Amino acid sequence: MSPDLSRAEVVVDLHAIRHNLRLLAGRASQSGASTMAVVKADGYGHGALPVARAALEAGASWLGACSLAEAIALRDAGITARLFSWLDLPDVDFTPGVAADIDISVSSADELARVAAAANRAGKRARVHLKIDTGLSRNGCPPYAWPALVKAAKAESAVEVVALWSHLACADEPGHPSIDMQAGRFHTAYEIAREAGLEPLRHLANSAATLTRPDLHFDLVRPGIAMYGLNPVPQAEDLRPAMTFKSTVVLTKRIEAGESVSYGHTWTAPRDTTLALVPTGYADGVPRTLSGRMDVWLHGKRRPVAGRVCMDQLVVDCGDDEPPVGAEVILFGAGTRGEPTAREWADTIGTIDYEIVTGMYRPRVRRAYLGET
Ligand SMILES: *Cc1c(COP(=O)(O)O)cnc(C)c1O
Repeated sequence: MSPDLSRAEVVVDLHAIRHNLRLLAGRASQSGASTMAVVKADGYGHGALPVARAALEAGASWLGACSLAEAIALRDAGITARLFSWLDLPDVDFTPGVAADIDISVSSADELARVAAAANRAGKRARVHLKIDTGLSRNGCPPYAWPALVKAAKAESAVEVVALWSHLACADEPGHPSIDMQAGRFHTAYEIAREAGLEPLRHLANSAATLTRPDLHFDLVRPGIAMYGLNPVPQAEDLRPAMTFKSTVVLTKRIEAGESVSYGHTWTAPRDTTLALVPTGYADGVPRTLSGRMDVWLHGKRRPVAGRVCMDQLVVDCGDDEPPVGAEVILFGAGTRGEPTAREWADTIGTIDYEIVTGMYRPRVRRAYLGET
């Protein structure tokens, strides 16, 4: 066997990332907006740094991370683009973030004070984006506390208010009444900031709103999932899924009709058949709840997994075909050859493709890249 066979490998196509980012940045630029590529959670499981580099090559000018540590890791790796982070513990020290030129989200007067103190320690002004909660009721300043936050931020010389921003609850359901409701509250928050003497940039749109609501692009859009090629909206878009999850056949064998397969014997061969053993299981990101409900792409076609997905392995029913040991097994991919997709997994087990790809970030799964520059 060649040394590059893999038990469990995620291959990320950076050509696809660049293609998708160009599409999104193209939509944004039609409204005069710039693009912040969201690379939180290690780039939704794709690898934050290679994705960040590809996104910047393809036209993003900002990168968005969740935690300060995620943003600082990108800065330390040599990323010079604008970086933004928005959610940390109350005991985080923002000082290295200010020193590293990370733009920091602020949702409360307390957070503002902590960022200002960090700016004083770092010896430079902190760039902050004030977050208004327009109805997601998660992160962000509630409207009743907004005028005071805006005033305090304006008065705090250690911070520069770069932007005001918010996040949408239902942008993936175009026409949902909450979208216009949130946009209205966003507008009101902006008016209050302007009356207080601020002139912030604005950003609100995730992938879904980038694709469907050009009127909500403002100065900057923040697409995540669509950059990875997964479409969050009902309308068709020319997006290419970037992630392929694959493994390798390690053993084949014939079994007779009536023999059962894997734990619990939930599957019994209806005829004599060939089984292929694949050394990948739920420890590698194959949800056990897909047992009996999944196919793989193997030896030129889709074939069903027989019986339960185990921790380290699963078994494929190949009928009278005999795939060679060492054959590639595609668990999910872009779907262009007929292989299953992350979306198909998500639909089968009742989740969203975001969770499937992000869940592939695990130490046992090797990652490789196509299209590195
Ligand atoms: C994750 C996230 C995004 C990107 O959302 P997608 O639906 O993946 O486009 C944008 N903004 C914030 C604040 C986020 O947390």
